[in-house]
Amino acid sequence: MDTELRRLLFVYALQNAVKHTGTPKSGTVIGTVLGKHPEYRSRARDLGPIATEIIAEVGGMTADERRAALESLAPELIAELTETHERVRELPALEGGENGVVMRFAPNPSGPLHLGHARAAILNDYYVRRYGGKYILRIEDTDPRRVDPEAYRMVQEDIDWLGLSITDIVYQSDRLDIYYEYCEKLIALGGAYVCVCDQEIFRNLKLAKKACPCRALSIEENLELWQKMLDGEFYEGAVTVRVKTELEHPDPAMRDYSIFRIVGSPIHPRIDATVYPLMNFSVAVDDHLLGITHVIRGKDHIANTRRQRYIFDYFGWKPPVYRHYGRMSISGVVLSTSGMREGIAAGMYTGWDDIHLGTLRAIARRGIQAEAVRDAMVDIGTGETDISFSWENLYAQNKALVDPKASRFFFVPDPVAVSVAGAPFQTAQAPLHPNDPARGYRTLACDGRVLLPRGDIEGKTMVRLKDLYNISIDWSTGIPAVTYAGDSLEEARRAKAPIIQWLPVDARVPCTLHTQDGDLAGFCEELVGNEAGNVVQFERIGFARIDTATKSGIEAFFAHR
Ligand code: GLU
Repeated sequence: MDTELRRLLFVYALQNAVKHTGTPKSGTVIGTVLGKHPEYRSRARDLGPIATEIIAEVGGMTADERRAALESLAPELIAELTETHERVRELPALEGGENGVVMRFAPNPSGPLHLGHARAAILNDYYVRRYGGKYILRIEDTDPRRVDPEAYRMVQEDIDWLGLSITDIVYQSDRLDIYYEYCEKLIALGGAYVCVCDQEIFRNLKLAKKACPCRALSIEENLELWQKMLDGEFYEGAVTVRVKTELEHPDPAMRDYSIFRIVGSPIHPRIDATVYPLMNFSVAVDDHLLGITHVIRGKDHIANTRRQRYIFDYFGWKPPVYRHYGRMSISGVVLSTSGMREGIAAGMYTGWDDIHLGTLRAIARRGIQAEAVRDAMVDIGTGETDISFSWENLYAQNKALVDPKASRFFFVPDPVAVSVAGAPFQTAQAPLHPNDPARGYRTLACDGRVLLPRGDIEGKTMVRLKDLYNISIDWSTGIPAVTYAGDSLEEARRAKAPIIQWLPVDARVPCTLHTQDGDLAGFCEELVGNEAGNVVQFERIGFARIDTATKSGIEAFFAHR
């Protein structure tokens, strides 16, 4: 393999990685190289293994290294990125990130991931890619009430789909002994105490800025009580461990908050335990022990950051750098895990991938690419201002990705069957992709009997059947009487006739297009049967993902126009 070809693969892989802040796909890089250097087309077959090797190399570089390499090897390709108005998405630098970062994505396994999770997942991922380092997936499963055993698998699938650059996986349920050890240390330091007060009584004392009697017990007495707690001598609700904060703190939620409790039921799917840390404790201990350098999370965690600070201070640990992004409202889909679960149980939704839900699997089912979700989230960034999620932007990002790839087909919803009087037998050659004739044509043989979309012909007197011929329609009897009106595209344009999709009566398959606003039933081209799993464009309707294709028909899900 000559060095020039290697160099080309390398620089275009770099360019792609700089442009999309991720590891490029081998097919894309090969495609770019062959597109720009057709002289190598005859060697297309040799390129796969070398491209894989080169991409692995690029994958191991940090974003800054990629940029620097591209700048020295092929500065014109950097220029090209800006010339074509392709923005190189760049978020603000992370303080202290230059030497590499350790970051984490910390979902609770209570259901599959949704768009809300995707923001944290992608923004943390973005910085790990940019600076290099570790990206720890930390499964926060220390609340048995909020663990769905199925979610372990679903969360992993969703992460794979998103293409996160996870380097390590940690289950908090494997770490209870660690949390117990640090709880004991905190008690021994005088930083926490075991509280057996009735919750209501404690609450009233707290609001009055008064200490409860437990707070005054000695360290030895507290350590004894803690041991009893571990030995199972307390029931759920009868005891908790509290961090000593400030009783005078202006925010009552900061005053001596709880860090351990007993959960008698349900049984945890992974472990046999009853004493569980609460989130602020396990998160703080893990952020320290795992060496987390930076945390990007939502504003809703600001109070937790304050609570966790007490734990860092007692132990003399340096806290990570935090960045809290603003709230993001997402309209049009269900996002609450409990709401989704109940809706599924009630038969209101077909499952976690029902298109009315905001889960990543529902979005994927509609043909939205993970890369579009990534681009949309990086566009939203880490700003503190509250915003609403823009579906338009997600769709625009997705369109940019699928438009060059999606094959075009006809789908005729709500069909009317007509016979075109006087029509010659004619065969339409419709391009699979209008900008890429090399991909070939669909051949639609037409004997004059066609299916037309009712909504598009109603009230029209002349229309053009795309890639075929013109027809005139007489509505005088109420039933459309259709006549052949010549082949001329010019004439159709002059008559301002709409150009519509159609199907030969004999060559079509039933197709249901599922949209968030309801289902459209109709027929589509037989070739769509080969597109299961792919995104296609139904001409004049929009992009759709072909979910299943069987003998009895096609199930498609609408993405966007
Ligand atoms: N498991 C927590 C959550 O999903 C995240 C904890 C954190 O980011 O500190 O809300």
